[in-house]
Amino acid sequence: MNESEINEMVIKCPACSVEGLAKSIMKEIEIPHFGKVLETTIQCPKCGFKHSDIIALEQNDPAKYVIEINKNNLSVRVVRSQSATVSIPEIGVKVEPGPKSEGYVTNVEGILTRFEDAVKKALKLFDDEQSQKNAKNTLKQIEELKKGNGTATLIIMDPFGQSNIVSENVEISEIPEEELRELKTGFSHIEE
Ligand SMILES: [Zn+2]
Repeated sequence: MNESEINEMVIKCPACSVEGLAKSIMKEIEIPHFGKVLETTIQCPKCGFKHSDIIALEQNDPAKYVIEINKNNLSVRVVRSQSATVSIPEIGVKVEPGPKSEGYVTNVEGILTRFEDAVKKALKLFDDEQSQKNAKNTLKQIEELKKGNGTATLIIMDPFGQSNIVSENVEISEIPEEELRELKTGFSHIEE
């Protein structure tokens, strides 16, 4: 992955409105077999606000990307736009786009780590026995996948086709009409 054209700007913080401290960092990332992606990260040292977005510079059709998670695919490059739904059905985890969702470039292992962090947060929020048990079980399954043990399916559905899983083992298909209607785009104000 080549990173070029880094652009830094001082901006007014969108969260706490402080002037002259928050930074917006724009990075152009060239991803082989995919194209250019513009990554914008906003960071505020005063209130701790942090947000990142990616914009794929090439627009595509709505698409569903499916890859098996296994020990050989952990380092496969993944581009998740802020409008994509990411799920691993076997372990029952899913992230849907909302106003706070972030776009990012990572790899399959990085996706697992993000789910791991989300489940750890949930562990602190829900303290009833059943939730704790479920969350711990999910964490265990994610850990095993990260170690390269076992397999599961990573599915990314993007109504704007801005995401990608960059591998010759990825299956790319159209999103069936029914599923497309149910997909969240992140622009509605109802969820999250
Ligand atoms: Zn701030």
